[in-house]
Amino acid sequence: MSEADDKMLARLDALDTLEPGELLPCPFCGGTAERIDFQDEEVEPDNFGGSCISCTQCHVSTAVVFGFKETLHSSWNERVRTK
Ligand SMILES: [Zn+2]
Repeated sequence: MSEADDKMLARLDALDTLEPGELLPCPFCGGTAERIDFQDEEVEPDNFGGSCISCTQCHVSTAVVFGFKETLHSSWNERVRTK
């Protein structure tokens, strides 16, 4: 089994043991993910009031979610799983 396979398996294991609200590392660069809430209407008029999960290193992100945000973290974590 290759090293890449080992890493993938470690990710899947991590997904099973995630705490609520916990975010997996970025699937692309391994960077730390963070939730971004768009709260400045002047800077982000299109995304104002929405939230997304974004990598702090390569800045890949989920779609911006408005209103119903319970799926926000899982949408990021599912993306990591299905890379
Ligand atoms: Zn990244």
